[in-house]
Amino acid sequence: PIEARDVVLSFGETPALRGASVSVAPGEIVAIMGPSGSGKSTLLHCLAGILAPDAGEIHFDGRRIDNLTENERSVLRRQQFGFVFQFGQLVPELTAEENVALPLLLNGVKRAAALKQARPWFARLGLAGLERRRSGELSGGQAQRVALARGLVARPGALFADEPTGALDSLTGEQVMDLLVASAREQGTTVVLVTHDARVAAYADRQVIVRDGKVNALVRS
Ligand code: ATP
Ligand code: MG
Repeated sequence: PIEARDVVLSFGETPALRGASVSVAPGEIVAIMGPSGSGKSTLLHCLAGILAPDAGEIHFDGRRIDNLTENERSVLRRQQFGFVFQFGQLVPELTAEENVALPLLLNGVKRAAALKQARPWFARLGLAGLERRRSGELSGGQAQRVALARGLVARPGALFADEPTGALDSLTGEQVMDLLVASAREQGTTVVLVTHDARVAAYADRQVIVRDGKVNALVRS
């Protein structure tokens, strides 16, 4: 499970989170919605151990993670989490399949085995034939799907995804959500995703609304 309690975080003078609390059950898929600037990405970054909050507590599988050192957080991310950034953030020098294989390589899987595990994701995501493309030569929507595969390939305990369908047309977005949900269920991966799109949020088990840096509404979908 993921447990965040009264998480506070400011960027200089700008308060982004003002006491945000949320819990996510193991294997649950939760969508975070809310207005632009309300703190959704900041909350996701805190849950994923990318940002350390100023106050409050975050626990993952019973372990307190908000007060870890930078190094401990990066180990936790590498070993247990997948993250899909809003604009993909692929490594431009690497091919698409090397990008997908990256989390495995970072965890010590040998190159041939890592690439072998990466390849099936291309057909699943409608990207067959693009395996050897440099990631800078992909369209925005293709890059976003490669980023999703990279987030899931190591079968993480939790996947955090910021607008994972933001660059996709609605049909592709729905196909990607079908795949994300099916893969997460099959792998037992807990998913927290941020989306503006109510149709995307409807794929989640539960929707959480962030307003003014607080989680202030819970909706069952
Ligand atoms: P959007 O829907 O537009 O992506 P959001 O809900 O994800 O918005 P956040 O990115 O979490 O919003 O931002 C919350 C607040 O923190 C906003 O006021 C934003 O301007 C501010 N903020 C976010 N990141 C930074 C940063 N790196 N430096 C300074 N202020 C920031
Ligand atoms: Mg955001």
